[in-house]
Amino acid sequence: MEYKGKAIKCNNIETNLVELVFDAENQSVNKFDEITLNEFKEVLNILKSDKSIKGLLITSAKDVFIVGADITKFLKFFQVNNEELVGWVRGFQKVFSDLENLKFPSVCAINGYALGGGFELGLACSYRISSTLAKIGLPEVKLGLLPGFGGTSRLPRIIGVDNALEWIAGGKEYLPEEALKIGAIDVVVEPKILKKSSINLLKSLVKGELNWQDKKMEKHLPIQLNENESMMAFETARAYILDKTKGKYPAPLTVLGVMQASASLNLEEALEIEAEGFSELAKSSEAKALIGLFLGDQFLKKKTKNSKQISKKINRSAVLGSGIMGGGIAYQSSLKGIPISMKDISQKQLELGMSEATKIMQKRIERGKSNSEEMGKVLTAITPTLSYENISQAELIMEAVVENEEVKKEVLSHIEDVVKDDAIITSNTSTISITKLAENLKRPENFCGMHFFNPVHRMPLVEIIRAKKTSESTIATTVSYASEIGKIPIVVNDCPGFLVNRILFSYFLGFSCLINEGVDFLYIDKVMEKFGWPMGPAFLLDIVGIDTAFHAGSVMEEAYPERMKVDYDSIISKLYKLNWYGKKNNKGFYIHSFDKKGNPRKEINPGVKDLMEDIDLKGSTEINDEEIINRMMLPMLMESSRCLEDKIVETPAEVDMGLVYGLGFPPFCGGIFRWADSVGFDKLLSESQKLEGLGISYQPTEQILKMVKDEKLFHPID
Ligand code: NAD
Repeated sequence: MEYKGKAIKCNNIETNLVELVFDAENQSVNKFDEITLNEFKEVLNILKSDKSIKGLLITSAKDVFIVGADITKFLKFFQVNNEELVGWVRGFQKVFSDLENLKFPSVCAINGYALGGGFELGLACSYRISSTLAKIGLPEVKLGLLPGFGGTSRLPRIIGVDNALEWIAGGKEYLPEEALKIGAIDVVVEPKILKKSSINLLKSLVKGELNWQDKKMEKHLPIQLNENESMMAFETARAYILDKTKGKYPAPLTVLGVMQASASLNLEEALEIEAEGFSELAKSSEAKALIGLFLGDQFLKKKTKNSKQISKKINRSAVLGSGIMGGGIAYQSSLKGIPISMKDISQKQLELGMSEATKIMQKRIERGKSNSEEMGKVLTAITPTLSYENISQAELIMEAVVENEEVKKEVLSHIEDVVKDDAIITSNTSTISITKLAENLKRPENFCGMHFFNPVHRMPLVEIIRAKKTSESTIATTVSYASEIGKIPIVVNDCPGFLVNRILFSYFLGFSCLINEGVDFLYIDKVMEKFGWPMGPAFLLDIVGIDTAFHAGSVMEEAYPERMKVDYDSIISKLYKLNWYGKKNNKGFYIHSFDKKGNPRKEINPGVKDLMEDIDLKGSTEINDEEIINRMMLPMLMESSRCLEDKIVETPAEVDMGLVYGLGFPPFCGGIFRWADSVGFDKLLSESQKLEGLGISYQPTEQILKMVKDEKLFHPID
């Protein structure tokens, strides 16, 4: 049989054996899009009608097998009504069932990534063989969905309910050996013998040496579970999922519900329930948000890729200052294979920086993510130094000394004198204008901001700040370096607070204002945690550092007095004056300590209540949860909108991604703008009008007023 399409080709490998090759034209990967699906259907029809065929081998001509369905088209599809959506999913399922029900055996040879629909296709085959390089999984829950093309129904019938729940509700990628152990894959071989072994396996099936019909029958029957086993499997998992998701991510629970409801049914009936479960999730705001984040991530990657095309490769870097940030930056660069010099003025600080890097490596080893050999490599790639001479060969230098404009200016001039003319110099300042720092430089075009977040090894975001005279090639190379060292860069224009802190401080302003009206900080923390933030604003302030928040807050007040300056002594300033700096000195809104097992513990600092005595305490009875959410989130939304109006950043997607990666904005909301889109502008506008007496921060921006008038969204679905 011969077939030549745009995504699929078929040829005879031997008499009566057909190889179906996924090889999407002009694409780097295979995925299930409309063309691929239509061709696949066409090929299956030919296979069904050709009585001479005895066996089918499915392979990929790319480095990956199939990475899943084409998510870029999903949101549009999900707009249709429920019935239509279920029908669409059933259509997909039928294609995979047609493959499964061929009158001859099929073998799927997985050479690389087989994710989502890619692996679901494998589950419909008689046998699955993979190379040691493969990665396998059903990551749909990460997009707020479930595997709807047969995965949720077939996997538990192949590997059992416990394993299937772990795979599908967890959404992780697995290595071939792990998949082999539980029977998700039947054979694993070295890549160079994958093709030959697959053909041999297929021949054994054709000859009847392996009973593929019985294996297929098992997939079609109800799952064999007695009441006790069922209880154990589903109820234990339900409690675990609820604890992990705090009820904010519906997909894992729906997976469980679908599996439980269909356990006693045959495959065909199970597939129907699966399609309904998929459709229900596809309509959820969480899926919309999570798919939006995925698309935002792709968008950022594309921007970074464009920058890489015009960037210089950085072979050696340097960091000035080996404090909290400098030490973290040095570790990160050397971990990703770019050797780095770390300069400080104090030997003791250099030792501290090195011991921090050592501690992070030790933790990686404890978690099985590294070994002593890698640790040796990473630590020796950091050169601690007290001399400027030792940074002269660096091609990109990051200044991370104390937050003092004069000191920074002096350090930056020094750096410029010792490095090569084309070296790029950056500053990790959190509050000082990058344009101002460039004032005394001879080559301001080679200078920009590079704002990492604390702790550097954990926080994915780096803001790359363009000053007035920064050249585009400097931006491109800095973006590229940030990505090389494993971070996600977002380019922003210079302004006080840059993007993320400018927005964060409007949120803190909402907090201070609530406290000033006597609302209990613990209540605010609880409400915002329930909303989905990883921690409430008071706890976040303790982590950021009350001193840092106080100083940065003063910068914001000075920069945006009309909306950030308050006419009362804020709670942040009150704590600051008492030297209650938060986690760093164990006392802020909370008292920070460790329990007997060494886990961090927080208790309320009773002193904060005393500070509030002169305030007319409203307590939790006079303000409800929704009001608190609006009073915290509206200033954040308006400031985010102002950042777009002021062209600090190009797109709403970058703001959303910046807040998720830089602040831990709840991912199931998809960022501030996706949250606003889902709440609805009419509602937000009326809430904002109710609060406008509190100040400009709460008032709608021109942009939002226009969007309401034009009935527009920040993220329209097209
Ligand atoms: P830190 O006080 O922990 O470290 C500063 C280091 O700079 C010290 O080791 C000090 O010895 C060294 N230093 C001082 N003068 C120097 C000089 N002339 N040459 C070389 N080294 C010198 O400070 P940090 O928290 O690491 O902050 C560093 C920078 O990063 C600041 O600009 C800060 O605003 C910014 N930042 C901090 C955070 C945070 O959460 N800590 C987050 C983002 C950005």
